[in-house]
Amino acid sequence: MSARGKVLLVTGGSRGIGAAICRLAVAAGYRVALNYAANEAAAKALVAELEAAGGEAIAIKGDVGSEADVLSMFGEVDRTFGRLDAFVNNAGVVDMKARVDEMSAARIERMMRINVVGSILCAREAVRRMSSLHGGAGGAIVNISSAAATLGSPGEYVDYAASKGAIDTFTIGLAREVATEGVRVNAVRPGIIDTEIHASGGQPDRIAAIRGLVPMKREGQAQEVAQAVIWLLSDAASYTTGSILNVSGGR
Ligand code: NAP
Repeated sequence: MSARGKVLLVTGGSRGIGAAICRLAVAAGYRVALNYAANEAAAKALVAELEAAGGEAIAIKGDVGSEADVLSMFGEVDRTFGRLDAFVNNAGVVDMKARVDEMSAARIERMMRINVVGSILCAREAVRRMSSLHGGAGGAIVNISSAAATLGSPGEYVDYAASKGAIDTFTIGLAREVATEGVRVNAVRPGIIDTEIHASGGQPDRIAAIRGLVPMKREGQAQEVAQAVIWLLSDAASYTTGSILNVSGGR
């Protein structure tokens, strides 16, 4: 099913899983707005790659944990494309390995501000544009959760796991809230995926250390997560809402 002409916004779309989603989205026919926080070079390189592949793409800088940045990001999508059909809440962060009894309030607040408050603010803006209640033409939202939401990540980052648990609950609630307004809301729970997020949390060797815990005995690739996201966004998933899909090799 082609998404030709439709517009997709992906937060944290410049690297890792978000970038894989943008690549598959352009191949499916979407025009893509990809958001990033700081690494402008990576964002620009991906836009150039997507354009070289025949796609239409723009990069938008902004911290999803800032309401002002969220408003300006959605405003830029409005001005550039004049519509929004699909939205992926992908931007998320981890932090250094720590027990809860070692965590500062600042760390926990940053985790929740970016992963939870940011995701809810962005979904709010997407619903304001997509919902028939607001005159929108409908649309689809996918939230990126994590297998951590079910595992709890003890001794590593329970705060991160709790933030993703919040994403799961938010997905179910928002899906039911807008179910009659033409908007579907689903989530994907990736397991251990080969991206730079592990190094950003101070554990560059994390994949090698825990891949043995995965029933499939291997890490996943960002594209394998992106395939699930693209399906959930598509009309092929027209009766699927409030679902949380594990893409975690059985873990
Ligand atoms: P990644 O490789 O570290 O990429 C993160 C992306 O998010 C980058 O584009 C980054 O922009 C952007 N970003 C970071 N903080 C942001 C903020 N405050 N506002 C806007 N953008 C921000 O991460 P990833 O592994 O692809 O993870 C993507 C999502 O999947 C996250 O929600 C993560 O929790 C989830 N996930 C990942 C795994 C895994 O094993 N990789 C497993 C389960 C769930 P810059 O380039 O500017 O920094």
